Amino acid sequence: MSSYLHEALRRLVSFNTVSAYSDIAAIEYVGAQLAAHGFKTASQSVEIAGVAQSNLVAWIGPPRADGLIISGHIDTVPFEGQPGWTREALRVEDAGDKFYGRGTSDMKGFLAACLDAAAQLEPRRLKRPLVFVFTADEEVGCLGAEKVGPALRSILGQTPTPRIAWIGEPTSWQVSHAHKSIVLFDVMVRGRGGHSGAPAAGVNAIAVMGKVIEAIGRIQERLRSHPRQEYISIFPDAPYDVLNFGTVRGGLAANMIAEECALRISYRTMPDSDPMDLYREIERAVRAIDPRDYASDANRAEIEMTPPLTMPPLNSPRGTPLERALFDATGARDSGGVLFGTDGGWFAKSEIDSLICGPGDLDQAHQPDEYIRRDAFERTTPIILKVIERMCC
Ligand SMILES: [Zn+2]
Repeated sequence: MSSYLHEALRRLVSFNTVSAYSDIAAIEYVGAQLAAHGFKTASQSVEIAGVAQSNLVAWIGPPRADGLIISGHIDTVPFEGQPGWTREALRVEDAGDKFYGRGTSDMKGFLAACLDAAAQLEPRRLKRPLVFVFTADEEVGCLGAEKVGPALRSILGQTPTPRIAWIGEPTSWQVSHAHKSIVLFDVMVRGRGGHSGAPAAGVNAIAVMGKVIEAIGRIQERLRSHPRQEYISIFPDAPYDVLNFGTVRGGLAANMIAEECALRISYRTMPDSDPMDLYREIERAVRAIDPRDYASDANRAEIEMTPPLTMPPLNSPRGTPLERALFDATGARDSGGVLFGTDGGWFAKSEIDSLICGPGDLDQAHQPDEYIRRDAFERTTPIILKVIERMCC
């Protein structure tokens, strides 16, 4: 048992890297550790939603082609105000078969093992470069990866950017090569307020939003009834584009005509399609809606869609050397799809294929009293070293 591994986990969890806060202190710690193990390091400063954040790139080995990227995000989802916590979120608690703490599964456990593997690595054996990429703000739209992907070439200088990345997201050591895109936007309905006793003076935004929901619901119904045969094994839960009404807000009181209503929607489309196609279809359907209230046809509401926030899909090729190395190192035998988005979607935009595979459990990610199982966690360093051996030595 490596005490450095456990110390690294303890330190990483102790930094509050909830996406809304700066990750800089945590990135500085990781950078200093990797520099001490002989890596060249560069941090990329990015401002996201008014907060100073940092991505870290650290590399070692000769400046040749066909190296390997190993990647993970350093931010976590919030824990303050999340019901169900019975432990301290930022203090690793050793419960024998588990380690508790926010981010242990998603995904500071993997990051701690990256540091541990770096400490045990024999750099002179490397024939191809190994590049660690640790990103900010994955949990709020993979925003760090969006910035670091295109910058890798200039950060790495002489070292050619590897074309393949391993992202250690929590998959209980299953291998995944695909996920859907994620698109998020709001629909705003602006009506005209007034006293509910005089409907002709206003137009009720909630009533018109009902028509919007109905129109989009029809699209959902059509998508569901046309599953894509070739994706049944990759996305058995839903082999089609899925859409979700996330939140709806509107109105002030029972005796007032609702002036505004806002609907937040997200959808996930198949990895081989343009994520914007569905947005454009929804736009056409919304434009065709009669914007009048049922209570009066005197006035029309305005319906507007906000520009979409898009996280690209992942659709990596099968049968790559990294896939074989991960199968050999983990014992996994097949590759499928994951239900969540990852930084790999943005890496793909920079011509880097990614595979997703890591020690944490997906059903622990984002949960109160998050934990990582000791056996899965303590296997991680040898698995990383084995993959580096196959890919870089
Ligand atoms: Zn994650």
